[in-house]
Amino acid sequence: MVELAENQIAEKPEGLQRKVFCANCMHCKLVRIATETQGKYQLRVKCDAGKWRKKLGEEKLHKYFTVARRSIDLCESYVSMGSEREFLKDLKKTLPIRDEEYTY
Ligand code: SF4
Repeated sequence: MVELAENQIAEKPEGLQRKVFCANCMHCKLVRIATETQGKYQLRVKCDAGKWRKKLGEEKLHKYFTVARRSIDLCESYVSMGSEREFLKDLKKTLPIRDEEYTY
């Protein structure tokens, strides 16, 4: 994740002035994480470009139901999957409202 200083924001190149939503990026991947209950899993999203990191550098995963909220001001690895507005609108209709547990 790129953090921009106040004076850098004005220098962002044309076309990168607004934030991007990670859910509409090809690098945002849905993964299954096994829970402690046998045969059950939960859904998480990861950035396969390696941009989501915890403070100590480990990879950070986010709960799937929060994916529509993941955004970044500027990302050099962003690869759009198409119309962001329509995609996010449809996604929000299908997202679970909480962290669900699923059966394999
Ligand atoms: S590459 Fe950038 S825009 Fe794409 S999912 Fe990762 S952090 Fe988000």
